[in-house]
Amino acid sequence: MDIQQSLAQPAIAPAVTLRADYRPPEWLVPETALDFDLDPAATRVRTTLSVTRNGSHAEPLRLDGAGQEPLAVKVDGVLVNDWRIEGEQLVVPLAGDAHSVETEVVIAPDRNTQLMGLYASGGNLCTQCEAEGFRRITFFPDRPDVLSRYRVRMTADSARFPILLANGDPVAQGDAGEGRHWAEWNDPFPKPSYLFALVAGDLAVNRGSFTTRSGREVQLGIWVRASDLPRTDHALHALKLSMAWDERVYGREYDLDVFNIVAVDDFNFGAMENKGLNIFNSRYILADPDTATDYDYDGIAAVVAHEYFHNWSGNRITCRDWFQLSLKEGFTVYRDQGFSADQGSPAVKRIEDVRSLRAAQFPEDAGPLAHPVRPDAYQEISNFYTATIYNKGAELIRMMATILGPQAFRAATDLYFDRFDGTAATCEDFVACMEESSGRDLGQFRLWYGQAGTPRVSASVDHAPGGGRATLRLAQRVPATPGQPDKQPMVLPLKLRLFGAETGRPLTDERLVLLDQPAETVTFEAITERPILSINRGFSAPVVIESDRTAADLAFLSAHDDDPFARYEAMQQLMLDTLVAGAIEGAADHDAVVAAIFNTLENPELDYAFMAEAVLLPSESFIGDQLAVVDPEAVHRARETLRRAIGQGLADSWRQLYAVLQQGPYAYTPDAKGKRRLRGVALGYIAASGDADTGRLAFRQFEAADNMTDRQAALTTLANGDYAEREAALDIFYNRYADNSLVLDKWFQTQALSSRADTAALVEQLAQHPDFSLANPNRARSLIGAFGVNQRAFHTAGGAGYRFLADQLIALDTLNPQTAAKLLPPLGRWRRFDEQRAALMRAELERIVAVPSLSKDMFEQASKSLE
Ligand code: ZN
Repeated sequence: MDIQQSLAQPAIAPAVTLRADYRPPEWLVPETALDFDLDPAATRVRTTLSVTRNGSHAEPLRLDGAGQEPLAVKVDGVLVNDWRIEGEQLVVPLAGDAHSVETEVVIAPDRNTQLMGLYASGGNLCTQCEAEGFRRITFFPDRPDVLSRYRVRMTADSARFPILLANGDPVAQGDAGEGRHWAEWNDPFPKPSYLFALVAGDLAVNRGSFTTRSGREVQLGIWVRASDLPRTDHALHALKLSMAWDERVYGREYDLDVFNIVAVDDFNFGAMENKGLNIFNSRYILADPDTATDYDYDGIAAVVAHEYFHNWSGNRITCRDWFQLSLKEGFTVYRDQGFSADQGSPAVKRIEDVRSLRAAQFPEDAGPLAHPVRPDAYQEISNFYTATIYNKGAELIRMMATILGPQAFRAATDLYFDRFDGTAATCEDFVACMEESSGRDLGQFRLWYGQAGTPRVSASVDHAPGGGRATLRLAQRVPATPGQPDKQPMVLPLKLRLFGAETGRPLTDERLVLLDQPAETVTFEAITERPILSINRGFSAPVVIESDRTAADLAFLSAHDDDPFARYEAMQQLMLDTLVAGAIEGAADHDAVVAAIFNTLENPELDYAFMAEAVLLPSESFIGDQLAVVDPEAVHRARETLRRAIGQGLADSWRQLYAVLQQGPYAYTPDAKGKRRLRGVALGYIAASGDADTGRLAFRQFEAADNMTDRQAALTTLANGDYAEREAALDIFYNRYADNSLVLDKWFQTQALSSRADTAALVEQLAQHPDFSLANPNRARSLIGAFGVNQRAFHTAGGAGYRFLADQLIALDTLNPQTAAKLLPPLGRWRRFDEQRAALMRAELERIVAVPSLSKDMFEQASKSLE
């Protein structure tokens, strides 16, 4: 540690929580009764806990709080005053082994800008408790291994809060006099405090029903403000599909008589799986063709499914401690990915998932915030809701499913659900079920949970001309990550197959190779022509493959591989090799890429959605990730040059597709979606060609569109360029959607993602726009978050982008530390850039760390980013 860094440390270093320190709870809480007197300015919470001593010890009861003063503490109905406050905990000495403990506090939801605990959004009251928000509502052992049965009573103003919802089933309601009313809800399933939820507000409902396979009729409700009701059908439909899918694919049935979802505009994440009462960021509920893109529709279905699936993987079986977070998140992401794959094209879904893994998780795993899927330590658990826990965690489950095969995997998940139902479990419990049920040894596989970093695999095939044997040499290397300098070899399930360079035919079946040594060779007999290697088919392992395949080999695979992912991957690698050469050498041969794209577009066997994915160039950040030192301008130039070559070289194809793919009235079908997607890509390449009519063409599409997908595609093209129509389109879009905040987010985001040279300056201006606000997480992310991932704009020479981001984060930290900390990682990538940029980025991190009242969320992210 250098001197500068030690100067930047705060006087009191934040406490670190260690996985190794886990101890079972000293007291259990079988029953919890909550009584809320709801009011935005002052809500009174009366809590009655039945507590029992867990084991034999003499420890007092310790209840977590977060700053609130206990107004009164009763034990077995009698006021006591021998309690004390230690740190943020309320400590109550108890003589016997079972007591009733009652506390009373007053909290102020309308001053809660962190959006954790009980808060106000759009005039309504709602809660968010994961991970440690419940302690901001009342005193409680706020840890996931304390499971309790909750009964909730709410009293509120009848006019302002006509709807009162909580977990479980409604029990009773009535008039409370003086313009107030009350309602009681009961949740029969023991749950940890992070799954508690209530909502009070003026809400309208879209109702549906679902009959489970054993005949339980479940009443479904999607609750929103009345004017949003017409935008809720898609979410309701997705919910019914999810319920049926989980019965069919995992044998999991819903277990309460009601399932409610509430949409709120102010929300830190995507959505929350509270038992029987999911609370959603409205962007993952509201959709109609005029305001939501196909991408939004898919996202809504995926998140509705994800939260619904948590009812089993998360709620019925929860996590013992927060180090086990991937137990529920990795598995549930894997489940929602399977659901989405089954709704449309599995190949396209896999491509999308790998693309987002590479965009978010690979850089995380290669940077200062790298951590294992099961971390060993944290300062602030909110910082660990990461792409590693979620998306890499899902890849771990996928690898086990691949190793076991579908039947054995299903038997293993049945065992897991059966054995751990009603408990707080660990990642180890899950793996042990996989092992026990299938009889396979997953000893070495467990390294995936403990070792961070993306493994790199080198692969090359030897074949003597005329000979019959081919030898595949594989070697693996796991890079060092913070705190983990030396790594052991992992188990990498690699699906592979050989194709003949001359005949184009497959030379072998698909094989699953489990690479578990530092290096291995695999031999293939009766190989009569030069073999071309297709490896990591379906992206069977989340690794980087380094192979010596030539441009011609990759072009061949992009045309002939029978695995759609491998085909996509070959094309991506071909593009990437070309782009990296272009960025380093200033010029590259574009012909192979242009020809491969032409072949893809001409192939009648491919569907439009796949074509659209296959012909898209890798992002500037992903190209940057391949370079020893990222040169953002060189990457941008190389990519734009290749885009122009593709646009010009295939001009006729793009024009023809653009015309042919034009559709009649909007329909939400896989075919129509695929056409829209490929037509949007065609428009992008027409624009890249530099043809003079591009602005007119895009503007015509913008004006004629009867759906947001086409309108947004046209707007993006216009926003990226220098067209006469650009300003007009942005103004029209703004005015048309001025009262729809989710669409205004798109307006900000499209500009923040623009590839124009002046984007950094424009973003600074947009931060002054009257509609910009840091208080709403969606809005903050739409400008600040999008800017941070726009490599060219964020890294504009001189460091203005770094300063701007740091200023915004420091301001946001005072309102909402969780959301601020999530937007910091772009600054932590300084090691990847040249000295000037690195120094400027570090200076901003130093400035953040030195802020006197910095949150521990931001402190952890910024200080780790400096190391
Ligand atoms: Zn989740």
